[in-house]
Amino acid sequence: MTKFVFVTGGVVSSLGKGIASASLAAILESRGLKVTLIKLDPYINVDPGTMSPFQHGEVFVTDDGAETDLDLGHYERFVTTRMGKVNNFTTGRIYQSVLEKERRGDYLGKTVQVIPHITNEIQDYIKRGAHYGEPGAADVAIVEIGGTVGDIESLPFLEAARQMSLRMGANNTAFVHLTYVPWIAAAGELKTKPTQHTVQKLREIGISADALLCRADRKIPEEEREKISLFTNVPEWGVISMWDVNTIYKVPRMLHEQGLDGLICDKLRLNTPPANLKRWDELVYETEHPQGEVSLAMVGKYVDLSDSYKSLNEALRHAGMHNHVRVKIDYVDSETITPDSVQQLAKYDAVLVPGGFGKRGIEGKICAARFAREHKIPYLGICLGMQVATIEYARDVAGLNDANSTEFDPATPHPVIALITEWAEADGTVKKRDEHSNLGGTMRLGAQSSDVVKGTLAHRIYGDVVTERHRHRYEANVNYLDALRRAGLVVSALTQREHLTEIIELPQDVHPWFVGVQFHPEFKSTPWDGHPLFNSFIKAAVDHQATAGRQAGTAKSLKAVA
Ligand code: GLN
Repeated sequence: MTKFVFVTGGVVSSLGKGIASASLAAILESRGLKVTLIKLDPYINVDPGTMSPFQHGEVFVTDDGAETDLDLGHYERFVTTRMGKVNNFTTGRIYQSVLEKERRGDYLGKTVQVIPHITNEIQDYIKRGAHYGEPGAADVAIVEIGGTVGDIESLPFLEAARQMSLRMGANNTAFVHLTYVPWIAAAGELKTKPTQHTVQKLREIGISADALLCRADRKIPEEEREKISLFTNVPEWGVISMWDVNTIYKVPRMLHEQGLDGLICDKLRLNTPPANLKRWDELVYETEHPQGEVSLAMVGKYVDLSDSYKSLNEALRHAGMHNHVRVKIDYVDSETITPDSVQQLAKYDAVLVPGGFGKRGIEGKICAARFAREHKIPYLGICLGMQVATIEYARDVAGLNDANSTEFDPATPHPVIALITEWAEADGTVKKRDEHSNLGGTMRLGAQSSDVVKGTLAHRIYGDVVTERHRHRYEANVNYLDALRRAGLVVSALTQREHLTEIIELPQDVHPWFVGVQFHPEFKSTPWDGHPLFNSFIKAAVDHQATAGRQAGTAKSLKAVA
């Protein structure tokens, strides 16, 4: 039967609870255990799909089309288990479910209350997330409870965790609490008081932590650890220091060296081989010993908040490691790009236009795509980035003046990108989207497969079939494909079922590396293998740097990179 580790947080948010949970999961996986993770979000939104990435960071999309918290992205990058709809739920979802039951009369006239109805529902969702009791279920499920202890919102989740521990027994549940130990410069001291308070708060609710992960900008000395232990009633070996590091991939080793996994396995009576973190060490080595650097312009809208591009940043880093280079990313606000200022992109080894919604900054992105095309700078357009590349090509090469997406100009004479419902009827082979159950409301979500055309760059990267995840409403209009093809654009992949455009590219004799993809490849990149598309893109950036350097005679020499 699956055992549960609850990870809670105290004092302040943004301490890295997601990374801590993922790291613990990774160490346990290296001990031969099957591990899964579940994220509980204490807000009322039913899912994060409608939340602004400004406020909430990236919306991570799973294979089964769930729009989830970005922590699920960390989970997938740290363990081999794939996440799905069941691995993330919010307070809103729980209430929705309880209210539906209430309306159906499932509670037989009883008064419906937070305890037990909401807390029971939470426990059912946690067990469902772990596939509890099903064949092939995980040995351990790490349950990360969002928010901080003391928040009104988190209380039902914490109460549900307490009840679960009572019902399942002490050897089937463990509690890890992440806390903050601030360094007060004026006093020249690390302060343990906030930790004392947050652990007290946790005990008020009836939860005793088995381990405390003490976040600080430095290592916590022995003396302070003793003090924390004394005041919090957590044995000293359970007081674990979690200091700032330059890469998140160092965290598994940091926690393991201080015995976190040993402690958890003892508590849960799990007999396993010792942890083996060799591949994490190799990863860290690769990150810290690049043999060169490429610089990339990411032309986007939410330029101030790199959390909105979390998976993308990681995917680029992974591809850097696989090419033995550091990828330096400059966020360029597309609103600042005009036909005059676009020249600023000339100094980059690659240009990337990521996904996005809404009209703001669109002309700047189109301008960036044109510049990359005309100057043979490697270009990767993701989702919206593919759409702007299509619009650009339609306008400038195919002679379709004022071509646009109906998202930005509903009255455009050439809707080369449009809602499927706006053009589907014109072509009998394409059915309206809502006839397919897996496509959700109006958004195309989750994994779909496409056939890749032989002889294309996409085929060299992906082989015959590509299966990637989607999150968008607009599609390349099938009625313009012939015109674009005649003008030289290569459509290198179409979805198997609906024949929607998935990948476009320029022929290799025209441009060394120009690719647009309708899906979001970044969601499937892992540090171990990187991702074939990003690996190839960064390789192209490396090649571009070498070529540009040869021509200008100024290149930094760049070794390696076959
Ligand atoms: N706004 C575009 C659409 O809805 C692109 C979405 C995206 O880039 N994720 O189709």
